[in-house]
Amino acid sequence: MDQRKLYYFDNNATTRVAPEVVEAMLPFLTESWGNPSSAYGFGRGVGRHLDRARAQVAALLNAEPREITFTSCGTESNNTAIHSALVTQPGKRHILTTAVEHSATLKFSQHLQKRGYDVTFLPVESDGTLDIHLLEKSIRPDTAIVSLMWANNETGVLFPLEEVAAICRSRGVLVHTDAVQTPGKLKLDVRELGVDFLSLSAHKLHAPKGIGVLFVKRRTKFQPYVVGGGQELGRRGGTENVPYIVGFGCAAEMAQGHWEEENTRVRALRDRLEKAILKTIPGTVRNGSRDTRLPNTSNLAFEGVEAEGVLMLLDQLGICVSSGSACTTGSLDPSHVLTAMGLTPARARSSIRLSLGRYTTTEEVDYVLKHLPGVIAKLRAASPLKLEVPARAVQPAVPSLR
Ligand SMILES: *Cc1c(COP(=O)(O)O)cnc(C)c1O
Repeated sequence: MDQRKLYYFDNNATTRVAPEVVEAMLPFLTESWGNPSSAYGFGRGVGRHLDRARAQVAALLNAEPREITFTSCGTESNNTAIHSALVTQPGKRHILTTAVEHSATLKFSQHLQKRGYDVTFLPVESDGTLDIHLLEKSIRPDTAIVSLMWANNETGVLFPLEEVAAICRSRGVLVHTDAVQTPGKLKLDVRELGVDFLSLSAHKLHAPKGIGVLFVKRRTKFQPYVVGGGQELGRRGGTENVPYIVGFGCAAEMAQGHWEEENTRVRALRDRLEKAILKTIPGTVRNGSRDTRLPNTSNLAFEGVEAEGVLMLLDQLGICVSSGSACTTGSLDPSHVLTAMGLTPARARSSIRLSLGRYTTTEEVDYVLKHLPGVIAKLRAASPLKLEVPARAVQPAVPSLR
């Protein structure tokens, strides 16, 4: 890596590990390396820090510590929740989800489809929001679980989770939410939300990659996905990743302390950035609802350019943004989220996501605003502007995935 300054606008892909988190983790990579399940004091001492981290994550969610299970990532948490709902209710073989989920849910659902389960991928409105009546109508007697993300990682658009959970409760259907994008951005309270399962991933809240959480509401029937030792109250086999769990605990506490600040300061920065881009660069439109979304995300389409070109030129300036999600970059297919919203493939391919975070500064926003108009103009000069046909009204029922 060169020493050039980084202008990081991709916080929905991953976040910088907070120095406080690194500090909290270090003792567990050096002197406190015992196994938390051991009977002697050296291990038990480590176990107490595991308990503390569990309590810190529980506090972030307003959950009880015993409702918190540590997993290896957000993907595993999503897989585990859906898997558990299916195996604890063998008579129910239908999964209800949406066409805009993260691939951790989408691809797992498609995998289950191949194994004989029935999956409904609900379409979304043109602004990325969900028609709650459609969801209600799509619940069947054999629906095992409703799994939907709270906040979309590409557009930031929020789904009405509380209402969805209330509907599911009244119909006796389990509800899982992928809330990976929400800590530090929204207030999280599993009691208010009323969900049975909720997934988090540490690397989206300033802790390391490779550690996740699954909240399982008490008294919910549960079957583990990773089977082995009796760790995590029998919910997940495998010796606990203590340093990372301690880091997750620290990051959870910080997210709780930061969410109001991030919701005001980061929101103001995002709004300034977005407004200025929309105003100064012609042929630019926002993808997704303006109001029903995360405070840190802006997804914009630049008519007549390819996002890959924008990414490359911005990269030369030290600016990190993304097209689609990091998990699908490298593919020329348009984003499944944007096409599910009815965008034409051309508009989807001309879209980039800017996602801000705790460490984003005014100076960094100004730097983007200084350079982006020139980048877009340069690309448009290289390939003459092709005019867009209006967004399609019809939405695919099943997303195409790579
Ligand atoms: C990043 C992300 C995931 C996956 O989390 P990993 O820990 O990387 O597996 C799942 N859902 C959403 C919405 C995400 O943004």
